[in-house]
Amino acid sequence: MTLLDLLQSSPPLFIVICTGLGLLVGSFLNVVIYRLPKMMERGWQQQCAELSGKPAAQPEPFNLVVPRSACPHCNHPISALENIPVISYLWLRGKCKACHVGISPRYPIIEAISGLLCGFAAYHFGFGLTAAAAMLLIWALLALAAIDLDTQFLPDDITLPLVWVGLIFNLNGAFTSLHDALLGAIFGYLVLWTVYWLFKLLTGKEGMGYGDFKLLAALGAWLGWQLLPLIIILSSLVGAVVGITLIVAVKHGRDIPIPFGPYLAGGGLIALFWGQTLTQSYLQLLAP
Ligand SMILES: [Zn+2]
Repeated sequence: MTLLDLLQSSPPLFIVICTGLGLLVGSFLNVVIYRLPKMMERGWQQQCAELSGKPAAQPEPFNLVVPRSACPHCNHPISALENIPVISYLWLRGKCKACHVGISPRYPIIEAISGLLCGFAAYHFGFGLTAAAAMLLIWALLALAAIDLDTQFLPDDITLPLVWVGLIFNLNGAFTSLHDALLGAIFGYLVLWTVYWLFKLLTGKEGMGYGDFKLLAALGAWLGWQLLPLIIILSSLVGAVVGITLIVAVKHGRDIPIPFGPYLAGGGLIALFWGQTLTQSYLQLLAP
């Protein structure tokens, strides 16, 4: 009996393995979230230097693998034992082993969310390609939401491949037909592009960024055009509630941009799991 046979025949085991994989990849996502924006910034600075004809300095290598993770406060290198998802954080009581300065709770939170969502995807979709694809989408959305919160932008390095990968999975109809996926990618982009320009013409302000259009195009490519209205409604509702709460409770300035990416990612996750059911029920309300 191979490992795949075993996973197929035992749903609880499949859920446990996927949860574990989600925790591990969540730990890697923390690296992506922290380093990808810095890597892109370095790339732009290098291009600027080249274009302006200055001799380009040879920067220290900095990518997703090099240098090794270290405490940002004292540079103590993080050992494998200190890098076990969630558990190490609890074991170290949220403090660096060497300098005892607090570690951001965001690390274990991202790991835990990734683990829980992957376990749920395994339970929801069962053993198969669809569950594997769903986990990939979960990881991409988590990374995008966190990067957008930090930097107010959604890197093309994640959004654009996400469009192609969604179309490829739907070649075999993992979530929807290729026809609906293709229309989803096109309409996803165009809908927000139109809203952006209408808003800009009416108010002179930019309500969102081009990264948001690409993210909705990706969600359309994964889940099909039929789920786009649901994703937009869900993300706008949550965005409005959080936005109003911030303005009222924290006196967050009205003009300080609130990134839309995390809400789109959240709407996309709900649509991934319950989109078909929710869409069918609201269509029935309209035409009983
Ligand atoms: Zn330290």
